[in-house]
Amino acid sequence: MRRLSWLVILAVAPFLVGGCAAMAVAPMAAIAYKGATKAQDASRPITDSEEYYIGRAVAARVLTKYKLDSNPKLTEYVNEVGDTVARKSARPNPFRGYHFAVLDTGEINAFACPGGIIFITRGLIQTCKSEDQLAAVLAHEVAHVANKDGINSISKARWTEVWTAMGKEAVTVYGGSVAAGLVTLFEGSIDDVFKTIVVNGYSRQAEETADAAAVTTLNRAGYDSTALVAVLTTMEAKGKGATSGIFKTHPATADRLAKVKALACETPTAAKGEAIRTERFKKMVG
Ligand SMILES: [Zn+2]
Repeated sequence: MRRLSWLVILAVAPFLVGGCAAMAVAPMAAIAYKGATKAQDASRPITDSEEYYIGRAVAARVLTKYKLDSNPKLTEYVNEVGDTVARKSARPNPFRGYHFAVLDTGEINAFACPGGIIFITRGLIQTCKSEDQLAAVLAHEVAHVANKDGINSISKARWTEVWTAMGKEAVTVYGGSVAAGLVTLFEGSIDDVFKTIVVNGYSRQAEETADAAAVTTLNRAGYDSTALVAVLTTMEAKGKGATSGIFKTHPATADRLAKVKALACETPTAAKGEAIRTERFKKMVG
């Protein structure tokens, strides 16, 4: 429930959901001050806390499009499975940890916001046939966070604008028009990430890297490493002819499937207790 509560706050507070800019003011202002005390550097890497705040604003934007699922038991279960794979991922400890939330829609989709907030739709959970398949989807999304694919979708020109604005002394006087301008600059970055994770999708290379990481993570966590092959096969069949949603952002092409299959076969898991996990999954998901 603790995990759910912050998302509920995010969802029910209209000033947060209605305007990411409003939510972004306080942390961004703090970041702006920090940035302004440093030498001007238009190309420094983003810090983990900045990534988190941008990711939170992206998550708020996702929640303007989708509602949170109201079943706390399902959310808790998804968090347990998600945490299990996240702990075995290449990035087990982002700034504020991982948070998994279920979106109340039959649409088949999942979104990894920068910094560790991961959304999965009820439709995608129901597409999975076992806990191992759910773990496979979550491990893939965790890999996008670990690889910083969301943050990397922000254009270089956008970063240069942001860091340059932060380097200006006037930015420290926030609350006025300069701060508003700064938030506007970050709005652009948030737009870039939102468009990538919800509308356009990552590059094929980023998808394949996330798949490979997911197979490794499943293995380490004791899940069946072929579970990603199984869930992608279902998605490929369901997605025939579909041009939107996850079928566009995460196309399960024959080529992608063949690569995941080869990887999973290279590293077979001696997964034990799958029957018990599947029973638990069915009880929870129905
Ligand atoms: Zn992906």
